[in-house]
Amino acid sequence: MLHTSRHIHINGIVQGVGFRPFIYNLALSHRLTGWVRNSASGVDIEVSGTEDDLNTFLAAISQSAPPLAIIDSIDTQEIDLCEFDGFNIIHSKDQPTDFIPVSPDIAICKDCQTELFDPQDRRYRYPFINCTNCGPRFSITQDIPYDRPKTTMSGFPMCPDCRSEYENPLDRRFHAQPVACPACGPQVWFETAKGERQDERGAAIQKARQLLADGKFLAIKGLGGFHLACDATNQAAVAKLRLRKRRPAKPFALMAYDLETIRSYIHLTPAAESLLTSPQAPILLMPAKADSDIAQAVAPGNNKLGLMLPYTPLHLLIMEPAPGFPKALVMTSGNLAEEPVIHQNQVARDKLSKIADGFLMHDRPIHRRIDDSVYTMVNDQPYPIRRARGFAPNPIRLSQSMPQVLAAGPQMKNTFCLVRDKYAFISHYIGEMENWETYQDYRQAITDYERLFRIQPNAIGYDLHPDYAATLYAKERALQENLNQVSIQHHYAHLVACMVEHGINLEEQIAGLIFDGTGYGSDATIWGGEVLVGNGRDFVRVNYLKPVPLPGGDLAINKPARMALSTLWAYQLPWDEDLAPVKALSPMEREILITQMEKAINAPLTSSMGRLFDSVSALMGVCMEISYEAQAAIELEALVDKDELGYYPWRLDGHQIDMKDALAAIMDDLSMDVSQAVISARFHNTIAHLSLEIAKSIRATYGIHKIALSGGVWQNQYLLNKTRSLLERETFQPLIHQLTPPNDECISLGQAIITANRFLQDKE
Ligand SMILES: [Zn+2]
Ligand SMILES: [Zn+2]
Ligand SMILES: [Zn+2]
Repeated sequence: MLHTSRHIHINGIVQGVGFRPFIYNLALSHRLTGWVRNSASGVDIEVSGTEDDLNTFLAAISQSAPPLAIIDSIDTQEIDLCEFDGFNIIHSKDQPTDFIPVSPDIAICKDCQTELFDPQDRRYRYPFINCTNCGPRFSITQDIPYDRPKTTMSGFPMCPDCRSEYENPLDRRFHAQPVACPACGPQVWFETAKGERQDERGAAIQKARQLLADGKFLAIKGLGGFHLACDATNQAAVAKLRLRKRRPAKPFALMAYDLETIRSYIHLTPAAESLLTSPQAPILLMPAKADSDIAQAVAPGNNKLGLMLPYTPLHLLIMEPAPGFPKALVMTSGNLAEEPVIHQNQVARDKLSKIADGFLMHDRPIHRRIDDSVYTMVNDQPYPIRRARGFAPNPIRLSQSMPQVLAAGPQMKNTFCLVRDKYAFISHYIGEMENWETYQDYRQAITDYERLFRIQPNAIGYDLHPDYAATLYAKERALQENLNQVSIQHHYAHLVACMVEHGINLEEQIAGLIFDGTGYGSDATIWGGEVLVGNGRDFVRVNYLKPVPLPGGDLAINKPARMALSTLWAYQLPWDEDLAPVKALSPMEREILITQMEKAINAPLTSSMGRLFDSVSALMGVCMEISYEAQAAIELEALVDKDELGYYPWRLDGHQIDMKDALAAIMDDLSMDVSQAVISARFHNTIAHLSLEIAKSIRATYGIHKIALSGGVWQNQYLLNKTRSLLERETFQPLIHQLTPPNDECISLGQAIITANRFLQDKE
């Protein structure tokens, strides 16, 4: 048979996912000779064999690729016939301008779980067991190409046993960079809050478990940072954790040992279960079941619980069921207030020793802190709330090639985004930029991503708000590096982010119902209840909620009672003495409020939908003061009577959406003692119907059917589901976020695409 040779180049997520061993075995089974190697832009293969064998080999690459691989393209080239000596995996080749995507961190696989609990296995109960199909990746990667010396495993030389597995192409650990065992790898130990190292290895885990069973608090070093843990079924412990962490009400995430336990706590569908058990293993936020033994203090005022499975071997060992051991643990990020999650041992000692009674430490350094991802389900599809571990740094694929740009992102829930070729690398969740440590982290992460993905931006996009930390960073950098700059309105960025996720051509005009908390408007007022029509070039503001004052600025955001009175004042609706927000504020505070609004002192105007939800929540007596973002709206949603179909009237006054009639009707309902559940449902239904009516008028004017639903308010699942089904019934195509969260985490994606698109056009 005549032999020929081919060069094959594969692009995509093909490193750190067992791709080379897969190719090795595939080549052998097709009687091919040649080699495979990682390059900085993917995987290169050269093979010789018969035409038939080469063709079936090629087809099999995409058909049976390893589960974690994502192949973007396979390019094949006929080359001169080569004589190879067998098939080999050869050394990586690095070219400074090439790049390849890096794999996210992956939850422990079934094979490793089996070995973990097999007394005959040499890694029996070893908390850092991993293989090519699972384990740490992005959090330990310092540079590319992804090889052990460029990870935080470089300080752990392999023992002969691990090395032989690592070098054996037929082994599951062939070229698994974090491969380790009890003889050569990282170890855990237990430390007291005073920093006294007491127990090692298995004994440390036992000590940690005892602490948890006793209702105490444990700081656990995990994959992307520290967690603070306690018994989630112990009301006193959870309440005490709230005091120590100074976190009065924001829900805590939970971890339970297996799916069966999680099923006993929240309502799950098969699709939800497959998300929970996926290699990404996010926290899943779902409606809580009644009568569970989870402490009420875990999620006060909330009808949902967020649960995840143990995603590392260490977590499995900590959570192992035993009589007297809690069935679920609170697993909240180990940090103070809005600071980033702690990921270094010494910082954890310094900052968490006042909260934790003990530490379960380990010596595998975390190069990059990464929070747990949070998802929920909408229409039985995964819906992101926070995108981090397991998902980042997987890029969003673009429908066309774009120039290299950086987008700086928003102030709250910050992410940044880098674009190159057909990829948008949206960063993992960075956090609240007003925090100095978060800001330092942000700068470091941008440098990291630019190096890892070999991106040198020639333009930079940022938010219109002149004082945002990210905006200041962007402007400073643009000046220093002589970059093109584009300033972008916040809600327009929301619209474009949603467009890009759905692969819509950037020339096509779509509409967006951008319902949000806060964003700087083109007219220097605060926007947030915006109806926009736009494409990748530009937008118009078609409608918006009638602006109301924010008396005292942030104070009005933190005290929905103030917001309720300001909304009534703006709509010229009198304050009844019996109203909950009137009673919640002292006569003095109300006096100041009126002065602020009448004289327009520190009372900027806002068209925010988030503030309208706050106002209604306070008006109904649900929430007067918040201790975490969106608390008033979350508690309002939790009350909804799903059988109630009624809704309130509203009007369009030119471009303004006038809610006076709805607010008056709510006050009527309150005076007639209509239940909170019914009023809450009617209010939610009002926003859904209003959305439909506005969509219809846009269709009449612009002929547009595609309606993007973006902005933090769309984290409200009742509202989202109601609006979606109303729109679909009238043959609209609602665009719902699926790759990035609807909140401000998606802003950088929109900014990046708008910037890249403008720069693309400037070049034409
Ligand atoms: Zn594994
Ligand atoms: Zn070893
Ligand atoms: Zn926003």
